Amino acid sequence: MHFFEQLLIQYSRSISSEMERCAREAHPNEGCALLFGTKFQDINPKNDTPRVVYVVKLVESIPSSQLSWGSFFIDEHRLFETSVTAKVQGYKLVGIFHSHPAPAKPSRMDFEYMSRIDGFKPLYAVWIIQSTLPAGNTRAYIFLQNKIHEVRQEIKA
Ligand SMILES: [Zn+2]
Repeated sequence: MHFFEQLLIQYSRSISSEMERCAREAHPNEGCALLFGTKFQDINPKNDTPRVVYVVKLVESIPSSQLSWGSFFIDEHRLFETSVTAKVQGYKLVGIFHSHPAPAKPSRMDFEYMSRIDGFKPLYAVWIIQSTLPAGNTRAYIFLQNKIHEVRQEIKA
């Protein structure tokens, strides 16, 4: 088993609808949001192996005035300035969300962006990409060891 298979990102239905709203409101541009929450380690009861669980508790949309597309753009300094709401609740940046008017797969620009962000200061952020195509889905990835790996998602009621 590879270490990245031991990663899991969890979020509630309401967090999921907030991400959908972010994508819908930005359309036809790519919507983008910072995801705040917690990370913890425990033992996966299914196979008794260690796992790292990312829990998303807060979605903060990035205003469209700060966006430039082709690919999305986030002011890198914002990533290290925890929002006031997140700070009050003790949450950290755990992920970055954006939408695609295409399949939910990282583009070449995404690859460059992911490597730059994680190279700049390792965040180990999980990147959630939501496709706004009619049959589009939502997938999660992490950039580790210069590669993109898919991360399992769990939506809890
Ligand atoms: Zn993208």
